[in-house]
Amino acid sequence: PPSPPPRNIALLPPPGFLGHLIPFIELAKKMVLNHNCTVTLIIPNDGSSMEPQKSLLRHIPTSINPVFLPPAPAKDQCPPENSNPETLLPTRVTRSIPAIRATLSSLREMGTPAAALVVDLFAPFAIDVAREFGIPAYIFYVIAANELSLAMDLPKLHEEEEQQHQESQIKLPDSMKDRNSEDYKWALDLSNKYLEADGILVNSFFGLESEAFHVLEQGHPRTPPVYPVGPLIRTTTTSSSPSSDDDDDDHECLGWLNNQPPKSVLFVSFGSGGTLSTEQFRELAFGLEMCRHRFLWVLRTPQENTAAAYLNTNNKSAEVKDNPLEYLPKGFLERTKDRGFVVATWAPQIRVLSHGSVGGFVTHCGWNSILESSVFGVPMIAWPLCFEQKMSAVFLRDGLRGAIRVKPNELNGVVERDHFSEVVKQLMDEEGEPGTKIQKRMTEVKIAAADVMDQEHGSSALALSRLVHKWITINPK
Ligand code: UDP
Repeated sequence: PPSPPPRNIALLPPPGFLGHLIPFIELAKKMVLNHNCTVTLIIPNDGSSMEPQKSLLRHIPTSINPVFLPPAPAKDQCPPENSNPETLLPTRVTRSIPAIRATLSSLREMGTPAAALVVDLFAPFAIDVAREFGIPAYIFYVIAANELSLAMDLPKLHEEEEQQHQESQIKLPDSMKDRNSEDYKWALDLSNKYLEADGILVNSFFGLESEAFHVLEQGHPRTPPVYPVGPLIRTTTTSSSPSSDDDDDDHECLGWLNNQPPKSVLFVSFGSGGTLSTEQFRELAFGLEMCRHRFLWVLRTPQENTAAAYLNTNNKSAEVKDNPLEYLPKGFLERTKDRGFVVATWAPQIRVLSHGSVGGFVTHCGWNSILESSVFGVPMIAWPLCFEQKMSAVFLRDGLRGAIRVKPNELNGVVERDHFSEVVKQLMDEEGEPGTKIQKRMTEVKIAAADVMDQEHGSSALALSRLVHKWITINPK
């Protein structure tokens, strides 16, 4: 008799970058919990510690099988370590291609061949491996549809005349303005490779980015089909029992939050690897002091080069040695002890944002943070640091109308204490404008986010269901 169709799906997140691994794990959970399939999570290794990844994978359902690849061999021609993620990550993934191929082979030998391969936005070159095995290849785009739309524009922009390019350049992030740069070249290669995918899953939803999804639908004839499947945010529920992450549950900041009035606390956090300069760190401290509002601040030791620090310390365990508390202004903790709480260097962000005492979120505009704030309807203050975060900040303020954006001083690039304190008041003062409007808007977004994830009727849940169904009912060659 013919063998039954494979019910195993292979997912390929990038090495490092917990901000990408988290949505991959959630995607895997949705697949196995709702679709009676198994997932092989192929995790590349860039030579750094895999402990942060392993700790995230502690509570996953048993039908998700993580496979940790061996460290990728270093090649002579590595891009410099201070390159953009667009340059660094694809190189690291490409070096792992032989190990990815070996994993797919061994799955086939074990009788659990992959029915499809779903790869990270930094790993589209692995599409070629899926082709070798005759299985569909999809991209999981874990950041904004807005970004995807830009990526899809790039091949076309590239072909246009230099003059026109300069006009359209305004839309491009800084790193892509110089056509001769390595970062531009890599971004273009990635975009061209996306066009070869069978489809692109996006961790977003219509209610959040309707304009970007319309542009993607209409504007780009060569774009593969795009499926909004989000918001997928971190959950701690396993297959059989709703157990939770012990570290998260016990965190002392939650006890503190329990004792604060509803919607009174401003949560301040810059993602898994975001850092401020020493000057900026102190300025923020003074701003929090001045604003007189309650706050919960996740401290990380200041670093002078934010982008470089991001790529080196982008994980929980690589916590920098210094104690961030030592950088606070003298007497800060004493002066703010009645209304402030600081945490070094990690907070259970989902628990915090879902807590009734939290009324605002100062965010570096990482996409997971934006989705999490949306799911819990928390108004934001957009404080982008680097990479695509600046574009996201513009979207949060102008597109979503869910945030106020801080303005750094044009001369020194620092967000100054008076300005910051003013922005906090605008967001957090009761009955103040624009705070109330933003709160109303974020409540609408929260409802829309819940609707799309409804397992029976939600557009994101249904899109994923249909895809998984399609994959597991076709046989690979
Ligand atoms: N996060 C957290 N505690 C922290 C900092 C970050 O739980 O103290 C989580 C946060 O909830 C989010 C992820 O780490 O899921 C950060 O992802 P995001 O895309 O916002 O930013 P990135 O770290 O990728 O820049």
